[in-house]
Amino acid sequence: MSDGIRRIIAILVLVAGAALLWVTGNSSHSAEAANNEIRATVAANQELAAANDPRLKQAGRFEQGGWVYVHLEGDPATIGFQHGFLLAPEIEDAFPAVSANMMHNTQRDWAFFRQTAREMLWPKIDPEYQQELRGIAEGLHARTGSKLDVFDIVALNSFEEVPDYYVPWLNKQEKLAHAPNLKSPGNCSAFVATGSWTKDGQIVMAHNNWTNYMNGERWRIIFDIKPEHGFRVLMDGFPGVIASDDDFGINSNGMMATETTISQFEGWDPKGKPEFMRARKALQYAGSIDEYTKIMLDGNNGGYANDWLLGDRKTGEIAQLELGLKAYKLWRSKDGVFAGSNWARDPKVLKEDTPEFEPNNKETSPNARRVRWEQLLDEHRGKIDVALAQQMLGDHLDTFENKEDANERVLCGHVDASQRGVAIWAWGAAYPGGAVQGKAADSNMAKEMRLSARVGHPCGQDFLAKPFLDAHPDYAWQKPYLHDMKAGPWTEFRSGEVSSIAR
Ligand SMILES: [Zn+2]
Repeated sequence: MSDGIRRIIAILVLVAGAALLWVTGNSSHSAEAANNEIRATVAANQELAAANDPRLKQAGRFEQGGWVYVHLEGDPATIGFQHGFLLAPEIEDAFPAVSANMMHNTQRDWAFFRQTAREMLWPKIDPEYQQELRGIAEGLHARTGSKLDVFDIVALNSFEEVPDYYVPWLNKQEKLAHAPNLKSPGNCSAFVATGSWTKDGQIVMAHNNWTNYMNGERWRIIFDIKPEHGFRVLMDGFPGVIASDDDFGINSNGMMATETTISQFEGWDPKGKPEFMRARKALQYAGSIDEYTKIMLDGNNGGYANDWLLGDRKTGEIAQLELGLKAYKLWRSKDGVFAGSNWARDPKVLKEDTPEFEPNNKETSPNARRVRWEQLLDEHRGKIDVALAQQMLGDHLDTFENKEDANERVLCGHVDASQRGVAIWAWGAAYPGGAVQGKAADSNMAKEMRLSARVGHPCGQDFLAKPFLDAHPDYAWQKPYLHDMKAGPWTEFRSGEVSSIAR
């Protein structure tokens, strides 16, 4: 049994004991309060019994630097059960926030997302991942008695692809009058470099996640997964979701992968396989750039369309896979750098998949950041390492105005500080979104299954919810879900930390 589980049991025993004392010590309490206490005690006992489940034996969790690290190990159903059980508090916190955002933006109810999950996504999910998703619902239920079922979990897993890719496509198909203004998001700033660009000639990869702060403050899980089949995986991720989804990960066969989304992407294939499954599968099973590309292309549904930045530490080669739906392009290099900040560059992808994107408009966030990446990477050519990459992720130079300003046009985005918002993503004035955390790794770290990660803005600034909500009543609907997003320190994690500290 891991220390994490022991701690949980110890806390539960204390809670149950305190509840019992309270019940026996207060003769004047109401019958309702007594019932609540009894229910809490029963639930605590259930949780205690569940914590002894043999499926949890190989798993564990700890918290460090603002991150929650979980080690998951076993067959797919077991990995899912461990995920649902160990991250139950985080899933129960994240689910209401994510689902509220999905419903608010699309003006569709939760039944719609469950139906989409059940009828369109589920039949296209490989049995291995179906078992893992069922396991998450089961583990969650075992811990908290949660009523969320596997289709709620699948809908949660689709939060990056269904609301902003499928729904706008569907609205168009249905010729919906007054359809909400939905745009594919601009998520993330990232690069991968190799050869003469880096200090040691090996690969350096870095990424900061851009999203709304409501989701972003919860994107603080480090998953160390030892699956029954495929390679061992170390990645950041979101509670309840089987893919990294922002994405940043490495596997034990030398693959390093990250991405940034393609702004103003349009298109969806209802017969395709969910992106969240293909992304997880690629990280778990690909041992080369070719294999990674093949898995991402197999059943491409157009969801969460990204420019994938890849590295293979075995060969020192890097690649950029610009994965449109109608078109795609793969560039590769053993001596180069690929950066991403939500723009497409292949003429065919631009024409067929992002017809409205203006690559030459220097004022927009993707293009302003593109210029900044070119400046920074050129300036540091031959010196790039993880420490420099961490600094770059926190950069605040706005190339359009040519001045330091933490706004929507800088690599470390602070859209809440901009009255312009980001219209091409349908982010309004002072939209509470931007860079929410960062990660970096190099070939040596990948070889040892290590990565460096920081929660909150990579520059180290805190976002505080109350003053923001007081100043911006337009976002009052987020009040139940939006919390402070405080920056943590850069923290290193490695595969196997739980087994070494807890057993
Ligand atoms: Zn910043």
